[in-house]
Amino acid sequence: MTRFFNITHKLFSGLDLLFPPNCAGCKNPGHRWCPDCEENTPKITENICLHCGLPHTNSGQCMSCRNNPPSYTAARAWGFHTGPLRKAVHQLKYQRDIALGEKLAEYLEKLLSNQNWKIDLILPIPLAKRRMKKRGYNQAVLLAYPLAHYLDLEYSSKALIRNRETRTQIGLNRYERRENVKNAFAPNSNMVKEKNILLVDDVITTGATLDSASKSLLAAGANSVYAATLARAASLLQK
Ligand SMILES: [Zn+2]
Ligand SMILES: [Zn+2]
Repeated sequence: MTRFFNITHKLFSGLDLLFPPNCAGCKNPGHRWCPDCEENTPKITENICLHCGLPHTNSGQCMSCRNNPPSYTAARAWGFHTGPLRKAVHQLKYQRDIALGEKLAEYLEKLLSNQNWKIDLILPIPLAKRRMKKRGYNQAVLLAYPLAHYLDLEYSSKALIRNRETRTQIGLNRYERRENVKNAFAPNSNMVKEKNILLVDDVITTGATLDSASKSLLAAGANSVYAATLARAASLLQK
């Protein structure tokens, strides 16, 4: 895996020298993701729910986690899904920008360096089957794979799959989202048994997808489940 990563990384770095890319956030030439866009991304740092990572004003857990605790141990996101980061996530989703994923995965590495999580295995959240077929790739892989390389941890895109079709979560409320992804995931229990797992995704909205995936992993014998996402839906700021 490391060798493959090194080869593609060198290839992309070389191509960037020959054909300087435009920044995914601001479109200025020279970087895939520029220092200005990094600076202008509102980061999620303090005053967060210790369980789901939701920004809120009280200390400890948010109301939602108190009433309905998610099955994962903890989830964290790097920045708000707004401004330049929203554009970069869009580029990951629709343009298969592998080099951008490598760059943005550095923020996930940084995010994890502030947590005291013991992780054995990194899994990308799998895409719904129909969307995977249409898009041809899973954008969560573009983050999870380089992250596993940076952290020198085991990675698998096969240990967790979707076992049934789900509709898009866009436009659904919190309850509908939970119902939509309920029992949607099928882990390979041989691969996840007794492992401490990190789920990786591009964006967390209500956390329903992560919770459902985590539930299935724990039911399949995983020891614990954590989650790291690049972005968190900014709409949750008001709640
Ligand atoms: Zn930029
Ligand atoms: Zn919470």
